[in-house]
Amino acid sequence: IEAVPISSLALNPRRGGPKNLLIVEHFVDDDDCETKRNSKHKPKLVVLGTGWGSVALLKTLNPEEYHVTVISPSNQFLFTPMLPSATVGTLELRSLVEPIRRIVQRVHGHFLKAMAVDVVYEERLVEVETVDTTGAKQSFYLPYDKLLIACGSVTNPHGVPGLTNCHFLKDIHDARNIRNTVIRNLEQACLPTTTDEERRRLLSFVVCGGGPTGVEFAAELYDMLNEDLVNIFPKILRCEISVHLIQSRGHILNTYDEALSSFAEKRFQTDHVNVYTNARVKEVKPDSVVFTEKDGDGNVVTKELPMGFCLWSTGVSQTDFAKSLASKLPEQTNRHALETDAHCRVIGTPLGDVYAIGDCATVQNNVSDHIVTFLRTLAWEKGKDPETLQVSFSEWRAVAKKVKQRFPQASDHLRRLDKLFAEYDRDRSGSLDFGELSELLRQIDNKLTSLPATAQRAHQQGEYLAKKFNKLAQSAPGLQLNEVDYGDLDEAVYKAFEYRHLGSLAYVGNSAIFDIQGTGLDIGGWKGFAGQLWAVYLWRSVYFAQSVSFRTRCLLAMDWTKRALFGRDLMNTP
Ligand code: FAD
Repeated sequence: IEAVPISSLALNPRRGGPKNLLIVEHFVDDDDCETKRNSKHKPKLVVLGTGWGSVALLKTLNPEEYHVTVISPSNQFLFTPMLPSATVGTLELRSLVEPIRRIVQRVHGHFLKAMAVDVVYEERLVEVETVDTTGAKQSFYLPYDKLLIACGSVTNPHGVPGLTNCHFLKDIHDARNIRNTVIRNLEQACLPTTTDEERRRLLSFVVCGGGPTGVEFAAELYDMLNEDLVNIFPKILRCEISVHLIQSRGHILNTYDEALSSFAEKRFQTDHVNVYTNARVKEVKPDSVVFTEKDGDGNVVTKELPMGFCLWSTGVSQTDFAKSLASKLPEQTNRHALETDAHCRVIGTPLGDVYAIGDCATVQNNVSDHIVTFLRTLAWEKGKDPETLQVSFSEWRAVAKKVKQRFPQASDHLRRLDKLFAEYDRDRSGSLDFGELSELLRQIDNKLTSLPATAQRAHQQGEYLAKKFNKLAQSAPGLQLNEVDYGDLDEAVYKAFEYRHLGSLAYVGNSAIFDIQGTGLDIGGWKGFAGQLWAVYLWRSVYFAQSVSFRTRCLLAMDWTKRALFGRDLMNTP
């Protein structure tokens, strides 16, 4: 690593431009000067983040094509889908993480444990901040030819006061804190000095948010209380413990198929997990949660639940870093994520060399563009002007079939469009004109732009970008040195990103559910399945297979065996 003062470079200092910091140049660690010189001509790829998106990219990128530098405050990759299991000792925290340096080694890259705080788009510089051993902040710039932003998201506070009294479940520190608090509460509940009322409060566990994370945590907690507590804490009576789940929508797991969501609700009902639906948390106090709920007559009633532990898990929002990057680009109008085009490039950057994937990004789908292209072809075939084209229902069906083949994830929306078309058809002349169709297309596109913030999507985008970067490096050597228009090259060398939904799973307490809507497997209205022991083993097998390395797979297998033989570890972890 070489550091060059920024003043020695021919940069154009302007108001709001680069500060007088060091620029850090990276070269491969190689003693051979010839290799060093050659390798300097490889494009510099800077990756921000060590989560799902970045790791998928690093595992697919050709090791020889780029100088890779990865920046993140976390030097490990975390396998988030199994994080709820680590909060109650079913799995060990170490089994869910892989040192990032092992992954970065694959592409002969560098890892810097630091935070990216700014990007100077015009000069292709990332401002990076570190904290030294005395606690003082140090900053420097890192130049890039291509920048990948995959910095994830933060928990959405929804403006509710008192969230300092809650736990979150985003990373490994959160899981450790939760585990320690749960055990602390159990220990305190056993003390002879604890009153009955205080004991009931300490043993009241509240989960705010009925999405997959909240539901899986409640299920894991319930399993632990039922299976291990009686043996390890015989002084605590099971009836003194309560688990509550507060959900703002009408059902828990509301993005899953209705039958699966009611399976989960019934499961919780049998397990005595209290589910409050159509309920909104108003405030979290140090020892209670205040929320409103609609009663049978539709009246809003305010309730207060005493609690000794509260998990806040109500969706995600943008990090401050992503917000500040978006605020520098007038074209960015989405308040929830960085807007990218169908090639995962951040919209509005002056040089078109900044990409964003995963939770911090939202993808513009080009489904409408494709439908319009198909319609134009149809007009051309009929020898008509597209603007005056009248499309009959059967012609529309043929177009929809082609679109569905190209965008399987759009099938639900196309079905909706069919329905709308049929409704129009009832009142009108049996065909739609271009303007009417455009309006319908706008409706489906609005829905499609918000792809889910999941590991599945981040992983697919990371792999997609790596494949594209491999192509770009092969098709345009020395790309960073000439005046080639990057935007055109992206489109020329590789297809646009297409999300392929592979289904959603959730653990619901000695049972698991599998939602396969939109996967192409949902034939004949079959939208998913749920089951007990066999489903739990299937759920485990899926995640076992997806786990990041052989090392983590061995650790997972050992944890499950250990738990089956000796129960969960209910000790505080340092
Ligand atoms: P992340 O994986 O969150 O990684 C972000 C990275 O950026 C981190 O390394 C972070 O340290 C780093 N970073 C942050 N700020 C900066 C900065 N300024 N500079 C540099 N680096 C920075 N999804 C599923 O598909 N299935 C599931 O079952 C599932 N279960 C989940 C369970 C839990 C408990 C949680 C929390 C999430 C779950 N998800 C699941 C969602 C999934 O984890 C996320 O969608 C996924 O992690 C997003 O990947 P990402 O690469 O965008 O960000």
